Amino acid sequence: MATADVIIENASILTMDPDNPRADAIALAGGTILAVGSRGDMAGFAAPSTRRIDAAGASVLPGFIDSHIHLFAGGAQLRSLSLAGVTGFEAIAKAVRERAVKKIDPGVLVAEQAAYQMFGDGETITRQLLDRILPDYPLALFAGDHHTMWANTAALEAGGILHGRQTPAGSEIVVGPDGLATGELREFEAFAPITDLTPTGGREMLGLMGHEPKSPPNAAQRAADIGIVKQGLAYCASLGVTSFHNMDGNFYQLELLEEIDRSEGLIVRGRVPFRMLPGMALSELDKAVEMRRRWRSDRLTADFVKMFMDGVIESTTADMFEDYNGTPGVSGFSYFEQDEFDAISIECDRLGLQIAVHAIGDAAVNRTLNGYQASRRANGPRDSRHRIEHIEMLSPSDLPRFAELGVIASMQPTHAPGGAYPIEPILSMVGRERMKTGYAWRTIRQSGARLAFSSDWPVAPLDPLLGIRTALVRQPAFEGDPDERQSLMDSLAGFTIDGAFSEFQETRKGILKPGAMADVVVLSGDIESTPPGDVDTLKVAATICDGRITYERGAT
Ligand SMILES: [Zn+2]
Repeated sequence: MATADVIIENASILTMDPDNPRADAIALAGGTILAVGSRGDMAGFAAPSTRRIDAAGASVLPGFIDSHIHLFAGGAQLRSLSLAGVTGFEAIAKAVRERAVKKIDPGVLVAEQAAYQMFGDGETITRQLLDRILPDYPLALFAGDHHTMWANTAALEAGGILHGRQTPAGSEIVVGPDGLATGELREFEAFAPITDLTPTGGREMLGLMGHEPKSPPNAAQRAADIGIVKQGLAYCASLGVTSFHNMDGNFYQLELLEEIDRSEGLIVRGRVPFRMLPGMALSELDKAVEMRRRWRSDRLTADFVKMFMDGVIESTTADMFEDYNGTPGVSGFSYFEQDEFDAISIECDRLGLQIAVHAIGDAAVNRTLNGYQASRRANGPRDSRHRIEHIEMLSPSDLPRFAELGVIASMQPTHAPGGAYPIEPILSMVGRERMKTGYAWRTIRQSGARLAFSSDWPVAPLDPLLGIRTALVRQPAFEGDPDERQSLMDSLAGFTIDGAFSEFQETRKGILKPGAMADVVVLSGDIESTPPGDVDTLKVAATICDGRITYERGAT
């Protein structure tokens, strides 16, 4: 009989395996699961060398799969000033100035997690406002969603964009009547001149734009970048994450991950996409095929294509069928025309590449579904599992198309206003009628579609337990707003087996059964007996990925 490296016992195991949903012990050997059952069942696998973990009745689950994160940017942000939850001029100024005196942000002080309304409802963030906080050093506030940045005059000057600059469609350096930049920078290409000023030269953001570093980083820069990525991975492991789907990608990031894997083994399994951009020739997809050929191990794969169809509601860049409330004539925009997207969709599908498209506005979701439908018409039905990321607004007539086309709804519980975020400004911008079809987790699930849950870290906090809590307790935003809460088992599935399904791995991960990957998370308590609102107070006691303990609470 095989010998277990690790046996976890005295556990309340939720396996996500319908054939054997519950167990109280599990044995692991090498990178796979040997047995799942009762404590007695494990006796034959134990040896003196076996590490035995007493879960003390706590929940044990398949390791969390976060189906949408930005690892490199997240790792970099762990080192930055965070303004999460900080509002009002005085509090913001205090936080920024306390950081500035430490002089640990060479080039530019970038503060993360800035809220669009952080200076007060309707208060526009301008360079002059930021100059009052920090007049003589470059300062930039980065919106939590990573779609808008606000810079002071010194930063705009340092970035060479005080007088504006033409940027690709969809992005904008906003210029005022005086011909000077107002400080508001919309979308990646507009704020790249500012992120270029940071110690990383903005390399953590390049994957979002689908770019490679302009010149190859030198050894010191590369080592620093690897340090950032490793910090991000360790943070994932500390929160029970054993697999992530990155939603930005380039060869550089893949090479960094490969280098880490070679030298010490990745402690979290990663999946990285090829970024397809508007205007690219279809032949660029050769690079996606090349990525898939080069990275196809269980720890690092590059087997899908990521695109952005639109922006975000807060900056009115999400593409809507109707105008935003209060801004007549403004309904957002799409990065791709329908025929252009259809052609890409058909070609990706033909090449067997899964597609994941960021689509937030109802018109963007519609256009994406149309493209997936076109690929099915052209190539015939197949198990493509194309995905739509976010789906914040949804036209009711598009609801049945997810199940019909086998499209995965990849959603982030913490993004829903009234969940982990305030309801404004979203509610005012879209109005109650549209809001009723927004962030429609339960409605979409009941339509027969598959959901996968994620954080979109660092846009929102990474902790899957916070995502699960939000899925459990979100309240309707107003009288008549549907109840979109999720059951505990559906919430857990969203962060485990459904994430595995969305990467074609549901028989091998996101599930605890013999032969599956030894990816396991041990919680600090029993999640089923924890009040839903307190689920995020549970901690991760241990994380195991590929049979290796990648995090242990209290261990140094
Ligand atoms: Zn994202």
